[in-house]
Amino acid sequence: MRPECECDESSSSDAQFVCLRCGSCCTGEGFVSVSAAECRRIADFLGVPYGRFLDEYTHYRKGLDRWLIDAEGNDIPCIFLRRTKNGPATCAIEEVKPDQCRDFPALWTRSDASDWCEGLKALAAERETSDGG
Ligand code: SF4
Ligand code: SF4
Repeated sequence: MRPECECDESSSSDAQFVCLRCGSCCTGEGFVSVSAAECRRIADFLGVPYGRFLDEYTHYRKGLDRWLIDAEGNDIPCIFLRRTKNGPATCAIEEVKPDQCRDFPALWTRSDASDWCEGLKALAAERETSDGG
């Protein structure tokens, strides 16, 4: 899983990645890992005590990372994903979202990301057009 991202990835061509806020990277199987520093940052942002944030918004298994819980829903949305009927997906903690979210897809991606990330799809289409394809 997962990131409303503001990922502005440069490429070798003039075309640049623009997040279209489809929300796909904030849904589905997967985990959003959060460090202790990120948990503190998010807890402060939400105005909830750190311990309560850990209990109510994260999972932890000894020896593994801590990660954000999912909200209910068939598409397994991140607890902080917000969607309106026709509007873009947004992140309720955009200002303090975890690095994992911030870094997609500029610093990490998945092999199938071009199938579900609308920004990557648009970038591929733009490059194809500029290549004359
Ligand atoms: S924290 Fe925000 S950006 Fe990250 S997965 Fe959740 S909704 Fe998406
Ligand atoms: S899947 Fe891609 S376009 Fe959709 S919200 Fe994530 S980064 Fe943005």
